[in-house]
Amino acid sequence: MEFRHGRSMLVRNIWRLAVLRICSVAGTEEAQSCETETRCPGRIIVVGAGLAGLVAAQSLRHANCDVVVLEANDHVGGRAAGILHGPFEGLEQGAQWIHGGERNVVMMALLHLYNMPTLRVGGNTDFEGDDEKHHFFADRFNDSLKAQAFRQYEEAKVLFERAAQIRKSDVSVRDAWATVLSKLPQRDAELLEWQLRVRSEQNWATQMDDVGLRLAELATYSDFDSSAPHHGGDFRFTSSGELLAKLSEGLDLRLNTKVKSIHFEKDDRLMVQTDQTIYQGAAVIVTASLAVLQRHQIHFHPPMPSSFLAALGRFQMGQLGKLFVKFTPGQCPIGETTYLLSRLVSRTSRRLLYYCIREDVPSTVALVCLVGGPSYEAARQCTVHEVVQELKEMYPHMAPGAVEDVHFVSFEEDPHVLGSWTSGKVGSSSSDFDIFQQKNSRGLYFAGEHTCRLMYGSLQAAAVSGARAALQVISATDLSSAWPFFQKNLLPDLAKPSIMMQAMQAARTKTR
Ligand SMILES: Cc1cc2nc3c(=O)[nH]c(=O)nc-3n(C[C@H](O)[C@H](O)[C@H](O)COP(=O)(O)OP(=O)(O)OC[C@H]3O[C@@H](n4cnc5c(N)ncnc54)[C@H](O)[C@@H]3O)c2cc1C
Repeated sequence: MEFRHGRSMLVRNIWRLAVLRICSVAGTEEAQSCETETRCPGRIIVVGAGLAGLVAAQSLRHANCDVVVLEANDHVGGRAAGILHGPFEGLEQGAQWIHGGERNVVMMALLHLYNMPTLRVGGNTDFEGDDEKHHFFADRFNDSLKAQAFRQYEEAKVLFERAAQIRKSDVSVRDAWATVLSKLPQRDAELLEWQLRVRSEQNWATQMDDVGLRLAELATYSDFDSSAPHHGGDFRFTSSGELLAKLSEGLDLRLNTKVKSIHFEKDDRLMVQTDQTIYQGAAVIVTASLAVLQRHQIHFHPPMPSSFLAALGRFQMGQLGKLFVKFTPGQCPIGETTYLLSRLVSRTSRRLLYYCIREDVPSTVALVCLVGGPSYEAARQCTVHEVVQELKEMYPHMAPGAVEDVHFVSFEEDPHVLGSWTSGKVGSSSSDFDIFQQKNSRGLYFAGEHTCRLMYGSLQAAAVSGARAALQVISATDLSSAWPFFQKNLLPDLAKPSIMMQAMQAARTKTR
């Protein structure tokens, strides 16, 4: 049995009191007068190099801890990684919007730290892009029907919220909407169904039938500031790859290293068994996705308590894929004045192109279509011909050969992720997140989008949870550093979830 990077028991078990004299500024290390007292319990192992894992590891590195990151895949980023090879290289297969825009203080702080630009695209609650750049097709391009649909959604939402407030027990989001839908004339109901389908897929990566009402609202991106005119997918990365590269700098990163089990030893050590070797540490932060945990891809010895497994079971990972359509240069039928292209579909429709973004990456113009529900399976098996047919219905004059290639991506197919993002089933509640946030006396911590109650399922949740787990591992006082997660004005004390909640809620104009 090999112990890679093993340390003597003595060293491992002595809590290190380190007085740091190093501050990190935009990825460079500079000596500054920022004396920081940090207690690292010994080597810390981070499982997973998605955003949560990278933020956790960087937080620990900035606190001068000994940290190693084990990543099952051959690349970092998890669901924030872009397409790395092939004709669609450079396009984002996972996250791309900074929901909440500038009010997303967490993501903005990271991007500012690394001097990374963002692209403002506008956004209207769950719909991405400025309204005037949102082109809506019913039978044909129909801007006034779009306006009617949105107006009517706002009106219906008032009724929905009133009904939701008086409910005592949890129901599915669909059941909660059913009363409102049943009172509408057919055409209005059709328009509302379209909105609800898109919103449900964008918020929870799944259909409303599966989502519990009680938890649903906490994921709503507009919570940052619901009075702002634009508060949906306001901003986009210009490159997730650049952010991930910056976040990987200086880390001891082991790619292609899949963690199979975590053992608690009697002397408080943790042994992490990978497919290659065994690592030992004083603390482990597990950032593997909800579905990876639900399918017991990582075994815990002794097993996790039944309360933990029960809370896990009240969550689910939805499936929302991206269908990429690449155009022959100069032949994209969708004009530059379109950012979002949407199409009226029913809740059971298997159409492919009902919510698409026009993307311009160097040398390529593409449509990136988000596909969920019944369309998800259709997209998985679709042909170029089917995509061309749908485009022709909307753009009859499209040139033959305009579509060069089509490509479908779903994180369900990534064996180390297995889904899109987390939502709560009927019966779940926000206290189910507590199970992940408790400081574990045995040195085991959890992070990831599924472990952070506010805006779970997002980049922001992944980043916050990573920093929170790191701060739970170390006992730190006066963490003054340019690392944003140590700045008290940004996030006063991530180690205390309640304070984190308060900080984020202060940025909201209404609380639920
Ligand atoms: C299609 C899509 C679009 C999205 N769009 C947005 C968006 O626009 N804005 C937004 O805010 N959010 C978006 N999200 C959500 C966002 O991408 C995620 O919330 C976030 O990236 C999750 O980060 P994470 O670190 O929690 O998990 P992950 O990214 O899943 O990272 C977990 C890592 O752990 C690794 N791992 C798993 N098991 C093991 C193991 N046994 N051993 C070692 N390593 C392991 C995995 O390989 C992975 O790299 C989107 C997600 C998808 C799928």
